[in-house]
Amino acid sequence: MSLPAIFLDSLTGTPGFDLQAFSQVHRSGEQVTSVRVHPQKGEDNSRTIAGIPASPVPWSRYGYYLDERPSFTFDPLFHAGTYYVQEASSMFLEQAFLQLNKGEEGIKVLDLCAAPGGKSTHLLSLLPANSLLVSNEVIRQRAGVLKENIIKWGAENAVVTNNDPKDFAHLSGFFDVLVIDAPCSGSGLFRRDPEAIQEWSLNNVALCSQRQQRILADVWPALKEGGVLIYSTCSYSAEEDEQIMDWIQRELGGENCLLTVDPAWGILETTSESSNRGYRFWPDRLKGEGFFLACFRKTTGDSVAPVKPRKLPDAASKADREMTGRWMDVSGKTLIRHQQTVYAWPAELYNEFVWLLEQTKVLYSGIKTGELMRDKLVPDHAMAMSSLVLPGIRRVELDNGAAIRYLQRKDIQLVGQTPGWALACFQGKPLGWLNILPGRVNNYYPKELRILKDI
Ligand code: SAM
Repeated sequence: MSLPAIFLDSLTGTPGFDLQAFSQVHRSGEQVTSVRVHPQKGEDNSRTIAGIPASPVPWSRYGYYLDERPSFTFDPLFHAGTYYVQEASSMFLEQAFLQLNKGEEGIKVLDLCAAPGGKSTHLLSLLPANSLLVSNEVIRQRAGVLKENIIKWGAENAVVTNNDPKDFAHLSGFFDVLVIDAPCSGSGLFRRDPEAIQEWSLNNVALCSQRQQRILADVWPALKEGGVLIYSTCSYSAEEDEQIMDWIQRELGGENCLLTVDPAWGILETTSESSNRGYRFWPDRLKGEGFFLACFRKTTGDSVAPVKPRKLPDAASKADREMTGRWMDVSGKTLIRHQQTVYAWPAELYNEFVWLLEQTKVLYSGIKTGELMRDKLVPDHAMAMSSLVLPGIRRVELDNGAAIRYLQRKDIQLVGQTPGWALACFQGKPLGWLNILPGRVNNYYPKELRILKDI
């Protein structure tokens, strides 16, 4: 891989840039593979993931490097949501989030540029009890992928929205934490995606920098006084990193926050012209791709908009609740009925969920539990992915071959099973629903998620 001279020249003088080492690490062809495990579905201290030896990412308790890249598509546990494939440097979000939020319960977090969901699923593993995540993506198609990944992660306290950043401005002072993983010129991922090199230009860096400022200015009112902004990019360019830090301080009045970083991690603490500090990840200094992160606290208060929903959605009837309760644990949940569909929301976040429905373009919220058909509930895939399914619901264990067939939405054969609904499981982890009928099995794996390839 050869990097354009104009790109390398533009990095001269950038904190931590070492031309020789940087060029060498891009020439080497080395690829780093890392995943982040689901705290409930996955195994902590995993020695192997997808059959590959794993070793910890030092700055994330859930992150693991894999010695080589397996075919994730053909690992049923990937589809069960036991882990998310994520670049290691960007897992540093965990340090920022945990060091700046001291475990206060019931916080509200906006992940503004969230697709495909790496930071959002990570945040869902870190949020204290009773907290809310609004996971937003402005591009509709990408928001669909985000929704699928949030469903696979199985959390009930997330709302997926499809809004422009400026749409959040009137949710004045609503959020305790803003995560802005900004669209950027993407140089940090050149090693993984060499084709992106062709799209890099000085002009694009300037455009990205302007867009980052616009996004920040648009959404800043939604952060409450005392709240924290976590800003990140995967660009090496100072125009998108250090210069944006100074812009946040100068134009928005954000107060730079420092993080404690173990020197052994190889992360560079960078200082801007106005003495703001951020954290740079250089692939020649650590095991990960290019990344930048900085944090700011809001010290001035925008007026806080009261959370006052006007129109309440239809609550499910007592009978609907009873029916849903035969499948899943409904304690602490408010059940909402929209036509024939039932959703489970955390009761303590009811007002916020309704308010968001009124104020933003919500694509998904809580857990979709199923469709009511006459006096029955047909369970939804999202319920299977959550941890709410009752232990008494039948689980059918599939071997690797059958699990792949199930995920391809092909016919599967089961012997000695009595008719009825069951969770299809691989190594005890739910993949989705099956309806066993006399003589055949109906595969309820969602069509849009099915594996299209053959091994
Ligand atoms: N946070 C994501 C994750 O961890 O998986 C990655 C986000 S990616 C770096 C940036 C996202 O910003 C993309 O999904 C992109 O579609 C979105 N985006 C592009 N233009 C935008 C804009 N003008 N305002 C807000 N988001 C934008």
